[in-house]
Amino acid sequence: MKTSKIIAHRGAWKKSGLPQNSIASLLKAQDLGCDGSELDVHLTADNIVVVNHDHDFYGIPIEDSTYTQLCSVKHPNGETIPTLAEFLPHASIPLFLEIKASVIDIQRSLELTAQTVAIVQKSTFSENVHYISFQEEVLSKVLSEDSSATVSLLNGKLTPAQIKANGWQGLDYHFDVLRKNPQWISEARELGLLTNVWTVNDAENMRWFLNAGVDFISTDEPELLIDSCYARCDI
Ligand code: MG
Repeated sequence: MKTSKIIAHRGAWKKSGLPQNSIASLLKAQDLGCDGSELDVHLTADNIVVVNHDHDFYGIPIEDSTYTQLCSVKHPNGETIPTLAEFLPHASIPLFLEIKASVIDIQRSLELTAQTVAIVQKSTFSENVHYISFQEEVLSKVLSEDSSATVSLLNGKLTPAQIKANGWQGLDYHFDVLRKNPQWISEARELGLLTNVWTVNDAENMRWFLNAGVDFISTDEPELLIDSCYARCDI
């Protein structure tokens, strides 16, 4: 039986107490043997692509601030907010790179997208980056910047057939969406699309999606999912 790949959501941070989206959380995901690690990016006011989940970094709004202003605070482990350019060289496993929606407007999201793709292409790691977004315009923009890119939709709104028709490579949906529409997993497979599910943090859902044979499971609990995979392999 096919085994799903384990994606550390925002790195491996929860059990180890590391900051989400820090370089340390990426390194921890790699140490654990995860198959990939997810991260989120935003654009600062002075057009630097930075890695963080929320729209603010410890209270400082990212899009309204310069990179220098953001560096006035640090993660509890001493890291400053990573730029995407300094994050990428630390990666030795595939990255699931979420391009966050701008709080300003769609144009700013598309500017973030163009800059992100340019940085990834410069990194020599581009074939190991899988772009994900809630915004359909962003996925199309990624492919217009790099026609060989791999993109998946996060918002749960389109069927596999619609995703295929849009020329995208996969769906990356909330577990509730896929448990309500389990046929989408087999339909996606038949269409040659990749399937990813977020954010699966409990053993029951882990078992369900392992049995369903999705390609990737994104989790805040990679240690638990690794144990679940090994338990299943031992049967
Ligand atoms: Mg994300």
